[in-house]
Amino acid sequence: MKITANPAAISHPDTGAYDLAVIGTGMAGMAASLIAADRGLSVAQAGLTGEILFSSGFFDFLAIHPVREKRYWTNPWDAVHSLVQDHPDHPYTRISGQTMRHAWDVMLSFLEREGLPYYRESEENIRMITSQGTIKSTYCLPQTMQPGANGLKQNLPCLIADFPGMREFSAVQIAESLRSQWKDIRTLRIQFPGTDGLTELYPELMARALELPLNREKLAMLIKPHIKEVKIIGLPAVLGIDKSLQATNDLSERLGLPVFEIPTIPPSVPGIRLKETFERALPQIGVRQFLQKRVLRVNTEPDGLFRLDIGSVSPEHTIKARAVILATGRFFGGGLYAERDGIRETVMGLKVVQPATRSEWHRDDFFDPAGHPIHHAGLETDNLFRPLDASGHPAYPNLFAAGSILAHQDWIRSKSGVGIAVCSAAAAVESCIYLKEGKR
Ligand SMILES: Cc1cc2nc3c(=O)[nH]c(=O)nc-3n(C[C@H](O)[C@H](O)[C@H](O)COP(=O)(O)OP(=O)(O)OC[C@H]3O[C@@H](n4cnc5c(N)ncnc54)[C@H](O)[C@@H]3O)c2cc1C
Repeated sequence: MKITANPAAISHPDTGAYDLAVIGTGMAGMAASLIAADRGLSVAQAGLTGEILFSSGFFDFLAIHPVREKRYWTNPWDAVHSLVQDHPDHPYTRISGQTMRHAWDVMLSFLEREGLPYYRESEENIRMITSQGTIKSTYCLPQTMQPGANGLKQNLPCLIADFPGMREFSAVQIAESLRSQWKDIRTLRIQFPGTDGLTELYPELMARALELPLNREKLAMLIKPHIKEVKIIGLPAVLGIDKSLQATNDLSERLGLPVFEIPTIPPSVPGIRLKETFERALPQIGVRQFLQKRVLRVNTEPDGLFRLDIGSVSPEHTIKARAVILATGRFFGGGLYAERDGIRETVMGLKVVQPATRSEWHRDDFFDPAGHPIHHAGLETDNLFRPLDASGHPAYPNLFAAGSILAHQDWIRSKSGVGIAVCSAAAAVESCIYLKEGKR
């Protein structure tokens, strides 16, 4: 699918009204802006860096259900089917399979077009190793990691290399943790090119260094003497920023073996790649972005338009919009705030579904496999993803919510973070268009 610039948005003056204002620049906000611009809406978006920077790069859809039983699913679509039977309140129950497929297709074809291709197996979760040497099931992963998933599946003899000074990544730890599942892993520690005398390495700087072919050649020369009897080579995810797949393929060619990236702990290079891709490419398709700014206030005008004051501390821009998608995340993103007497929604003071008292936020056993009630707190919506007020009606006719701010889901335990973000964003955009076309 080809996404072209949206002339309605590009020519849009700040003095008129946008079709849609998106609050938040996490995965949900980025997906909402992308899908809305793709559908021809004029879009403005504001936010600070979201959890994207902390992402491993994996896009989870749904891997575990029920969380209490920690039941793993090979097929995420079957998992969704089971989940919606068991939890009629879950956001996935309000999203059709068609909308979910469309959401993934738009997101993945956008990333591919922008030089950050992702890999998925049509109906199956992919098993891949993490920075801790555990195995995680996810729906899509950066193409640069795919040979690793393949190597794990086929138990190929593998060499994992790390670098002194890169504290967050230990090849030995990964190999030890994986021993029972991936038997033939050897490890190697080599000096990262050009870092003699440095005691601490920073993944982003390493990745930028490896954008240069000369540094990749130096790295290849250091690894080459150690690749006897292995069929695949794993490295921390530092193989370039802008052209990571080209950098990975180039290193593979120089070494004569498939090379793959392993996620590192956050903040991660795969997260930086996603952030930079969205920030570079969304304006090109017409999204007006106000980055590193927050929406300080949202008011409604007598004509029904929303007026948003945007700035760092005091208003620097004011825009108007016919509809708003609130994608401000949970506690980490800043969309929810926990106070002694309860959890509140930070931008519009919306009603937050939450345990009746603070003492019920957590279960007695911190490691209770069922998780904690506080992780299900958030905004309750109608089927069009409009947040509900205390009387159970939409708080505003044209206000929608998407992403982790939604109630009745525990994305951490169910491994569904990006899935909920992207699919609910698509559903919210569809609702916005549905209402815009007057089908109330
Ligand atoms: C460490 C970590 C690792 C993760 N790893 C994975 C993974 O491997 N796979 C996976 O699928 N998911 C993962 N996730 C989860 C995933 O990143 C999130 O669940 C998902 O992206 C939710 O996105 P969101 O957009 O709803 O919220 P967030 O990413 O929290 O974004 C919220 C946005 O709202 C903005 N905002 C808040 N208030 C305002 C305001 N007043 N004005 C303007 N903007 C505002 C914030 O600045 C931010 O941009 C991980 C999360 C974390 C924290």
